[in-house]
Amino acid sequence: MTERYPTPTLKTEGGALHLEGVALDDIATRFGTPSYVYSRAALTASFDAYRQALAGRRALVCYAVKANSNLGVLSVFAGLGAGFDIVSGGELARVLAAGGDAGKVVFSGVGKSRAEMRQALEAGIRCFNVESAAELERLDAVAGELGRKAPIALRVNPDVDPKTHPYISTGLKSNKFGVAFDDALALYRRAARLPNLRISGVACHIGSQLLDPAPMTEAAQKVLGLVDQLAAEGIALDHIDLGGGLGIRYRDETPPAVAAYLAPLLAVFEGRREELCFEPGRSLVGNAGLLLTRIEYLKPGTEKNFAIVDAAMNDLARPALYDAYHEVVAVQQRQLPPTRYEIVGPICESGDFLAHDRDLAVAEGDLLAILSAGAYGMTMSSNYNTRGRAAEIIVDGDRVHLVRQRETVDSLYALETPLA
Ligand SMILES: *Cc1c(COP(=O)(O)O)cnc(C)c1O
Repeated sequence: MTERYPTPTLKTEGGALHLEGVALDDIATRFGTPSYVYSRAALTASFDAYRQALAGRRALVCYAVKANSNLGVLSVFAGLGAGFDIVSGGELARVLAAGGDAGKVVFSGVGKSRAEMRQALEAGIRCFNVESAAELERLDAVAGELGRKAPIALRVNPDVDPKTHPYISTGLKSNKFGVAFDDALALYRRAARLPNLRISGVACHIGSQLLDPAPMTEAAQKVLGLVDQLAAEGIALDHIDLGGGLGIRYRDETPPAVAAYLAPLLAVFEGRREELCFEPGRSLVGNAGLLLTRIEYLKPGTEKNFAIVDAAMNDLARPALYDAYHEVVAVQQRQLPPTRYEIVGPICESGDFLAHDRDLAVAEGDLLAILSAGAYGMTMSSNYNTRGRAAEIIVDGDRVHLVRQRETVDSLYALETPLA
């Protein structure tokens, strides 16, 4: 049986939507709209699912910060003992500010700057996931300047098709991520000769919103073959990082539960001593959050009716960017016949839509909850049209924490100067 809502801690009580013990209406009254609202219980439950599936095994779950980098969210995961997968020096600073442990941080990304390498070496991160030969050389040089040894894994590209959206598949030969599988052995030999590197592991990440464990299991088998080849050459790895990518339900997808997704992967590594790392992003936060927005106008048309809301593509880019589907629910139930609406924002772009063809019983001024917005929502937001970013709130039982204030307009141009 599928739950009514993809967000597990969302429920209707007395005809009104509540997240955990808090009415969404009360949040809108207190903090305004648009606001991102996250459930601490849902964040914790999704992390626990990984922890339980990996119980009894040497393993580390590194939350992929780019999915949602709010300090409040990071602090919840830090408190649960999570590691973190970062893609910039900025994300490392966030992790540390939120109380995360640098010793559990892995650093991914194809374009690490020297300054970012220094910052990460000084913080003492667990591993650099290196994505090219040039990066290996640069990291060796930077570590040498600091008199440190940089722990590394090579991110290999296992060339399996994750069968997901082309913009979010990363493990094919044709994209910019990782080193070609056939080049990995030679690159490891080269890394072994560089004096300021310490070979720690191997990494891969094949894509996002994966709904089937088969491509990842195929990638894991290829990676294991490489690990054994390296061992035969005297290069022993201590960890194997299998990346993130598990999908979530936005509409009618049926992603496997975390345990079912991990089971075939764990089977590949049965009896092995290496630590297994995972870098989940979306599956930890996606369904733990929603975007709360208010209807400004209802605008009937000859072909389409529009519900113009106060959230827009600058707040939630996924529909405009990937034609992504997000469930939209009226916060207050009304005894009205539903009408079919395009849910659009105020931005001057025809691509500024949040949802197409939704049947809703709503009036002007009503609140809508746009579900499954916890991942790649706020982190992909912008100030397009000089719109301040939304507030962010974490609900915890019947308590409410404002974890990011709504941006003020003067803060948006505080760094700018008119010519005299
Ligand atoms: C984006 C990314 C992740 C997280 O992916 P999800 O699909 O959100 O789980 C993990 N690792 C790397 C290297 C990434 O780029």
